[in-house]
Amino acid sequence: MVILNVLMHKSIILNFLLIFQISKYTCESPNKANHEKQKYTRASQWTHYLELIDGAVSKYEDCYNEGCACFASVLSDDFAVWHQREQVTQDDFNAARSYGVHYQIINHKLYRQDDCMFPFRCSGVEHFILEIMSELPDMEIIINVKDWPQVSLHQKPLPVFSFSKVPDHHWDIMYPAWTFWEGGPAVWPIYPTGLGRWDLQRDIITRAAEEWPWDKKEDKAFFRGSRTSAERDPLVLLSRREPDLVDAQYTKNQAWKSDEDTLYRPPATEVKLEEHCKYRYLFNFRGVAASFRYKHLFLCNSTVFNVGNDWLEFFYPALKPWVHYIPVKPDLSDARDLLLFAKHNQEAVKKVADRGRQFIIDHLRLEDVSCYWKLLLQKYAKLLSFKPTLNNNYKQIKGS
Ligand code: UDP
Repeated sequence: MVILNVLMHKSIILNFLLIFQISKYTCESPNKANHEKQKYTRASQWTHYLELIDGAVSKYEDCYNEGCACFASVLSDDFAVWHQREQVTQDDFNAARSYGVHYQIINHKLYRQDDCMFPFRCSGVEHFILEIMSELPDMEIIINVKDWPQVSLHQKPLPVFSFSKVPDHHWDIMYPAWTFWEGGPAVWPIYPTGLGRWDLQRDIITRAAEEWPWDKKEDKAFFRGSRTSAERDPLVLLSRREPDLVDAQYTKNQAWKSDEDTLYRPPATEVKLEEHCKYRYLFNFRGVAASFRYKHLFLCNSTVFNVGNDWLEFFYPALKPWVHYIPVKPDLSDARDLLLFAKHNQEAVKKVADRGRQFIIDHLRLEDVSCYWKLLLQKYAKLLSFKPTLNNNYKQIKGS
């Protein structure tokens, strides 16, 4: 009897232990399984983006800087139509006359029509031409200093130089914008006389980046600018919904009339480019044409999120998606996902930031800009089938 009692007692204890084990299993296992599953889903959720980075980086070869070779493909693309036609004739040139400012280079001297709608832009352009004057043959050029490119692919090609274009829409030949030297947009009160010289901005922003190493930066996306294009709206709206993820706000520009122009909110305070370095993810968008902010953003050593890839300046094609920047769809439908990816994959996106910054530091110096101007004008001059005759009404430009 005693033995039976002991056995029964033992079996109760065993049963209890068994039940406890099962309940422990049933209570813990789903959580553990969930956790593993979540870990797996989280990892696999980002695999696609990580593969895009790895794939792009493994294919990428840094360009050889000598002779501004990094940008050579842009020259060939922009001149392709003229190479096919074998020359730029006097008729082609005359047809282009009304689309920009007329310059002549004769005997290593620069001449220009009297009026230029934007004098600081013209002098920003002239700075670079004067610098290389001794190496330029005689030629005539039409330089468009408006923001908007001039020659649609729907019309016959015309030899017009513009700072920005959409290659699928325009024949314009790209030149490095005036703003590398002067005539950049005036933004009151932070840049009352324009963005300022690129070499000086490089120094200012590089110093600011040192104050804001990655670990100190806010883990947030940032954008400040005016509503030059409604393509920027989805980011501003995302910022209103999720301010911890993005701080994107509209500022005033000269065209501002009411809160409608800042998407029904009062204009935000302007923030200098060097102060953007405080944030890990910086957004670039086209404005009226390509935005001058793009090159500056890389200097912060933050990751650049570039929206759309249609509007170009001459140096854009050398910067590669996933290698130097994170590409974002023009409608921003993937922006939130990409930001979450960045937050969960800091090491990978920090490397994108490092490569982007290094490219701009190594390959977009003022001397690279001058180098591009030289190749551009020398190549163009070879295509001209006529010799310019000095227009006596034009004044010689000597620079300051
Ligand atoms: N900008 C700036 N901080 C601001 C607003 C504008 O640094 O708070 C700079 C911006 O980076 C760009 C220029 O001012 O280089 C003009 O910006 P905007 O958005 O008005 O026009 P965009 O040229 O980008 O279309």
